[in-house]
Amino acid sequence: MANEERSRKELTLESIVEGKKMEAYVEHRTRDMHACTICGNIGYKKRPMKSVGGRWFCMDCIRQLKDLMDNLEKWDAEVKLENEMSKKIDESLGL
Ligand SMILES: [Zn+2]
Repeated sequence: MANEERSRKELTLESIVEGKKMEAYVEHRTRDMHACTICGNIGYKKRPMKSVGGRWFCMDCIRQLKDLMDNLEKWDAEVKLENEMSKKIDESLGL
């Protein structure tokens, strides 16, 4: 029982060491990789990246930006309405 526990601990330690080695390897390779400017994730084959103005963006963030752009007109209208409303409130308060 005690022996079993020990070997399990050793196994865990081994997997931690393996993980650290992997991290070091990935860090070593990072020079050829790019981190997303928005979310900080590293781009690789499964996470396509695009460079815009010397900065890198991952596909997930670009997709979110596209959603934002699709709703930009609506957003813009909302902001304008809000500004107009607060202006009217200011006027009615004599500010
Ligand atoms: Zn991203």
